[in-house]
Amino acid sequence: MQQQITRHHYRKKQQPPKKNRQLFIVVACVLSGIILISIIAAFFIMRESSPKPTTATSDEQYHFSSSKYKGITSKFTTRDTHKEHTSIEQPITHIAAIDEVIAREVTMIDNEFKESVAQGSRFHDRMTQTITYQVTYNTDTHLSIVLHTKQDTMGAHPIDRTAFWTFDKKSGKEVTLKDLTGDDSKHQQAIAAAARKAIVDTLQQRQQSTEGLSLDEIGTQHLARFIITEDTKLGFPFSASSILASSYGAINLRISADSIAGALATPLAKSLFQLPTEPPKPPEPPAVPAPPAPPTPKTQGGSNCGGTPCAALTFDDGPGPYTSHLLDILRDKNAKASFFVLGSKVARQAPLLQRMKHEGHHIGNHTWNHPNLTKLSAGDVAAEVSRTNDAIRQAIGISPTTIRPPYGASNAAVNGQFANLGVASIMWSVDTRDWADRNSTIVCQRAVGGAQSGSIILLHDIHKTSVDAVPCIIDGLQKQGFQLVTIDTLLGNITPGATYHAR
Ligand code: ZN
Repeated sequence: MQQQITRHHYRKKQQPPKKNRQLFIVVACVLSGIILISIIAAFFIMRESSPKPTTATSDEQYHFSSSKYKGITSKFTTRDTHKEHTSIEQPITHIAAIDEVIAREVTMIDNEFKESVAQGSRFHDRMTQTITYQVTYNTDTHLSIVLHTKQDTMGAHPIDRTAFWTFDKKSGKEVTLKDLTGDDSKHQQAIAAAARKAIVDTLQQRQQSTEGLSLDEIGTQHLARFIITEDTKLGFPFSASSILASSYGAINLRISADSIAGALATPLAKSLFQLPTEPPKPPEPPAVPAPPAPPTPKTQGGSNCGGTPCAALTFDDGPGPYTSHLLDILRDKNAKASFFVLGSKVARQAPLLQRMKHEGHHIGNHTWNHPNLTKLSAGDVAAEVSRTNDAIRQAIGISPTTIRPPYGASNAAVNGQFANLGVASIMWSVDTRDWADRNSTIVCQRAVGGAQSGSIILLHDIHKTSVDAVPCIIDGLQKQGFQLVTIDTLLGNITPGATYHAR
């Protein structure tokens, strides 16, 4: 009995601490819950009240700050939303006429970008835009400025472009090439010739092929605007596709003033480029007008086109919803094309690929899912290429011999992988920029206007506007006597690992 009582007593004694512990656990849970909720609430409240643009309706913020260039202030504009990240740094020279020219350019570029953002799918990543500038020449009397724009609108190709000017600070007016050469067309032609030579030199230095590249059309109309570089050369900082097809990349031309001293004829030019002023010469005989340029298209031997001018239409990023309609158009107009397809889309579209092959078109590799190959390891490059080759072989029974690297991005290491895998890199010489403009009329004009014999024309069959432009492109080219052929017909023998921009 005694024992029982004791045990009972013991049990009773044990109960209160157990209850306390349970209570403690409950209280602790409630408290930590409250703390957690407070932290979350505080986070949202702070996020709401964190510095936002003073203008409630716009996501735009701006501020000014002095620049490293004498007399020039930078204006910074930023917009940071879930749809875009924009950062603009533009120069304010405090000379009204100059600032107006630059502001007009910035507004035009930015409006185009805003339009892309407005049209962009909400499933895309954020679009980004960065505008910066550089002053290359800045004296009491003159100023040279380059404006750089980079836009990534999640289209197939990021936009990278430049605008540049040289200004007279006193008048606020732009200085053009004519102000350097005078009205003598001989001087202007001399500078155009020097520019064409500098382009070829640049490409050769970069070991880019100049085969099929015609510079005949590059003349003074492309050279009206210039800069004076930091080392007092005549500069033309052309971005990709502003003077040559985008596949050649940016062409930052610099021409030494000494090499064109005779053409830099005006007193202004002599003083800007620190050239000796020549003693007055006896009057020269009247200038002989330059002979007219030979008519294009030029025909070149070696291809399988049988001596007639030919060009290749190429379509990237498909197959897509408009590809079958495109095949109808090509069949009806008796034109052959080349399709650079994405491996990830091939498996579901095998019948369409079989139709392409059956109707005599060329099928090439455009990787599995469109990465920039120069940013991948050698193993990943090989995987992108061979996985796609396998998918195409499964669909049509043959493995591709050509590849178009996404964004035209390639380098020696990537080309080495291409050589190993037995594919040649097919770039382009005519860029319709169809993915950017989505306007059939413009796309047709660029394709037809840019074509020469041997041209490779870049289009994307995933855009309805591009496919809608094809009848106009084929009619326009056939009217000029072009035969539209596949890449392998155009190029003849294709060497694995080599890069082709045109025939
Ligand atoms: Zn592409």
